[in-house]
Amino acid sequence: MATRFEQQTGLEQQRVANFSAGPAVLPLPVLERIRDEMTCLPGAGASVLEISHRSSQYIAIQEQAKARLERLLGISGDHEVLFLQGGSRLQFSMVAMNLLRGSGHPAQYVLTGSWGKKAVEEARREGDVQVIYDAKATNYDRLPSPDELSIQDQAAYVHITSNETIQGVQFQELPDCGAAPLVCDASSDFLHRPTDISRYGLLYACAQKNAGPAGVTVVVIRRELLERSAEDLPGYLSYRNHASADSMWNTPPTFGVYVLGLVAEWIEDQIGGLPAMLELNQRKADLLYDVLDEFPEFYQGHARSSDRSLMNVTFRFADADAESRFLSESTEHGLCNLKGHRSVGGIRASIYNAMPVESVEGLAAFMRDFANKHA
Ligand SMILES: *Cc1c(COP(=O)(O)O)cnc(C)c1O
Repeated sequence: MATRFEQQTGLEQQRVANFSAGPAVLPLPVLERIRDEMTCLPGAGASVLEISHRSSQYIAIQEQAKARLERLLGISGDHEVLFLQGGSRLQFSMVAMNLLRGSGHPAQYVLTGSWGKKAVEEARREGDVQVIYDAKATNYDRLPSPDELSIQDQAAYVHITSNETIQGVQFQELPDCGAAPLVCDASSDFLHRPTDISRYGLLYACAQKNAGPAGVTVVVIRRELLERSAEDLPGYLSYRNHASADSMWNTPPTFGVYVLGLVAEWIEDQIGGLPAMLELNQRKADLLYDVLDEFPEFYQGHARSSDRSLMNVTFRFADADAESRFLSESTEHGLCNLKGHRSVGGIRASIYNAMPVESVEGLAAFMRDFANKHA
């Protein structure tokens, strides 16, 4: 009879090409390391799940994760890295509670898709919100050009969603916000390319798309903005509390921080840093967009070509039957979780950092065959 361990090893050999939008694929070497250390973290005599967040072993894990993010993002003394819970949707509220509430100035939001809209809904509870761009008229297939944005220097902040996960549109260049702090929801493209952190007042990302498991959210905040957090905010909701306690104001999401640190280590030591990560991501995205461009009548890409996402490739079929056939046949080929978000339909291939090039090559080949058969 197979032992539990052998059964699990068997399962591992059946890993599919997983195009899930999130929680999403993680690097196999990271999963293997977690498996190897799960019951006994070296030096701790117990699992990372079982040790105090005040233990020297855990503190070292959190410090290393933070140091790796600082190195990858080129963070110096001007910005602070926080590890929080509540996902990006809590950040929709926390950003506005800390930076908008009582500021006397409006916050300006750039709407390029579904997540930006949800961020606006939460911010409106806290103060005056101006939507300075809304791509609704073209069904969120594009980004604004710089002259379409009238940004005020006095704005409490300017909020963008660098990659709209559902629509598959992604900023390739950041807007110039003048003196207003730029706040960016980078949930689905965190760590996918070199980033000039000095451009950001605040950047946040839940980990489960591109950087780790669900349960930990990274916030990178310019230190001077910490002064804006009002004294009367509920304790957990104040950035200043988390910053002054080194993200140990309460028990941090220890397992999530551990995995996030391993993913950052993988990017640094195995991929070769963010420039190499970008090269890989570009290669993967090109493989799929080339097929869309080869069969433009059959595969109808959602995003305008200049605003295409490197992370989420979205398209539809003119013929509705083709979609269900595509989904069932791709699944039979081990190409899984390609159904678009329930709010927009169609197909979405999420090809985050950890998605192997070979899996994307497999999908591109399948798409070519499928088009040749059915177009
Ligand atoms: C997934 C996602 C969110 C929501 O994240 P939660 O962790 O579920 O709150 C917000 N913004 C973007 C861009 C996302 O992709």
